[in-house]
Amino acid sequence: MTRMLELKNVNSFYGNIQALYDVNLHIDQGEIITLIGANGAGKSTTLMTVCGIVQAREGQVLYQGDDITKSAPNQIVGQGICQVPEGRLIFPELTVQENLDMGAFMRNDKAGIKRDIDYSFDLFPILAQRRKQQGGTLSGGEQQMLAIARALMAKPRLLLLDEPSMGLAPLVVKQIFEIIKKVNAENNTTIFLVEQNANLALKIGHRGYVMENGRVVLSDTCDKLLADESVKKAYLGL
Ligand code: ATP
Repeated sequence: MTRMLELKNVNSFYGNIQALYDVNLHIDQGEIITLIGANGAGKSTTLMTVCGIVQAREGQVLYQGDDITKSAPNQIVGQGICQVPEGRLIFPELTVQENLDMGAFMRNDKAGIKRDIDYSFDLFPILAQRRKQQGGTLSGGEQQMLAIARALMAKPRLLLLDEPSMGLAPLVVKQIFEIIKKVNAENNTTIFLVEQNANLALKIGHRGYVMENGRVVLSDTCDKLLADESVKKAYLGL
């Protein structure tokens, strides 16, 4: 199995404030990996360290064996890592179609782009109906769908999702998670999913990591984490 991503003893800072402490984790090709933890545990910082927005001060980030620790975000995107940030951040003034076009800005294979837009509309039929509508006028759930669809237009090998469930109704969240599973199964897209909704995230992930105070404190298969007493108590409300 190909090792897609590996973080080795990563320490990340915001100025003098340390946010990540000796983070070690890995993702193999085709996996859905879930990272759970409370507010402020360091989940978003981990994703931002992978995509180069925050640079690890110590340690290494390896992508398909290459050291990308010091790479710039645009280089990292160019290598096939794409992030859907927390809060979605679609282009509100642009239409759904234009948002999707923007997702493909690094590509010039017209036929492939068209095929992938059709694929997005198959995944999210509601977006096809809203094709000409401005992104900012979509519901929260539709905006999240658009953000994911736009990221897929870049044909990522590794898709980073930061709290896709945030602020959405349970039914919409369920729908979005089903689609994440589908994208993983149909395209073998490797997925790194950061979530506060531990219950759902652990149900679709293969393996998971638990973070507390900037440290990975537990890692196992999602089945085992779901059954773990400390996880149940702290993150599943059981
Ligand atoms: P949330 O779910 O609330 O986003 P998180 O697990 O993603 O939480 P991070 O956002 O990674 O956590 O935050 C980790 C730590 O880094 C926190 O203590 C936070 O206050 C701090 N932090 C995050 N962003 C910044 C920043 N821009 N400047 C300074 N400190 C920051």
